[in-house]
Amino acid sequence: MGFWFRIPLWQRVVGALVLGVIVGLLWGPGAESIKWIGDLFIRSIRMLVVPLIFFSLVAGVAAIGDLRKLGRVGGRAVGLFLITGLISVALGLLLGALIQPGAGLNLTPDPSAIPDKAPPGVTDMILSMVPDNPVAAMANGDVLQLIVFSILFGIGIVMAKEVAAPVQRAVDAGAVVMQNVTMIVMELTPFGVFALIAWVAGSYGLNALLPLGKLVLTNYLGCLLIIVVVYGGILRFVAKLPIGDFFRGAVDAQAVAYSTASSSATLPVSMRCAQDNLGVSRSLSSFVLSLGATINMDGTAMYLGLATMFGAQIFGIDLSFADYMLIAVTATLGSVGAAGIPGAGLIMMTLVFGVVGVPLQTIAFVAGIDRIMDMMRTATNVTGDLTVTTTVAKMVGEIDVAEYKSAEDV
Ligand code: ASP
Repeated sequence: MGFWFRIPLWQRVVGALVLGVIVGLLWGPGAESIKWIGDLFIRSIRMLVVPLIFFSLVAGVAAIGDLRKLGRVGGRAVGLFLITGLISVALGLLLGALIQPGAGLNLTPDPSAIPDKAPPGVTDMILSMVPDNPVAAMANGDVLQLIVFSILFGIGIVMAKEVAAPVQRAVDAGAVVMQNVTMIVMELTPFGVFALIAWVAGSYGLNALLPLGKLVLTNYLGCLLIIVVVYGGILRFVAKLPIGDFFRGAVDAQAVAYSTASSSATLPVSMRCAQDNLGVSRSLSSFVLSLGATINMDGTAMYLGLATMFGAQIFGIDLSFADYMLIAVTATLGSVGAAGIPGAGLIMMTLVFGVVGVPLQTIAFVAGIDRIMDMMRTATNVTGDLTVTTTVAKMVGEIDVAEYKSAEDV
């Protein structure tokens, strides 16, 4: 037992990931019989999301304490979210044009795979951000609505000053308690990751990937480029921090994102990585990460661009320059609107395809292998949240650089 706990958690998680792939490939579809262990893990971390966001975000906003500083932090974070989103779509379009993953493809689509849920329009998206009942938002696990309410609640505490001191102490305590609960649940990570990866590797196998192999590889390449070049560049030249320490500190969150394909389920882990491994202050990381896990999805943005190119290629549609511009805007908006849950990107495809006239049937081609690509784009999304959080923290002096560099992991 002591031996197990002496291995740093991230090493146990990475080990589980590798072992999961091997076991899954050897076992084949039968690996589904251990998927429940992964589901148990996902349920346990999803259980944390609502109370963690509420307590951490309210405590975080209240601790920043000064509304002007809150605006500075929020403004910088949203600015970086948007810039990285646009760069990512552009990269998806560029890779789609260069590699041509859809060229010469002759597949039979599966029409039942087209989602019948229409994506929300822009006004609906704005309206749905504000809860008409905050308790219902919590009960439904509507993260964006919960964020809006929690930020306002935190601002209310700041405005009330001493009168609200007991409320502030209570939410601070709640945040500490939720962090401890997170720590307990985190111990399940290696088992959950192992079971989920074995299931995915077993049920897809290598054969299922071959026909659409070019698209899968292009998707992985795009995500890797975003992680290494875009995020590496931002950390190196904007935050002026060493890159290696960042990736060592972020790997737990990346592995959980990869295996669960859900940014919002990964949020508790990202918070722990930011605070314990990367030295970002609790208040700033709670604020920026909660926001990022919901609205910042660069892997999804890249994929939406790439998938549109793919659809245009298999159906022989010519796209004009104006179309590319439209795709850039709608794919960025689509990635903002996508929920941090598995398969959300697939629903957003209907939005982007619609504006440039790519047939929705394209979705039927890619849905069968979406999970494999979803895992990588989610790992990218979460890495992006951590990159922006670390960078904004550095900009406003909310990071302990010595702790960042030591990247001591537990
Ligand atoms: N699964 C992704 C996430 O949670 C969203 C997507 O489907 O692209 O970040």
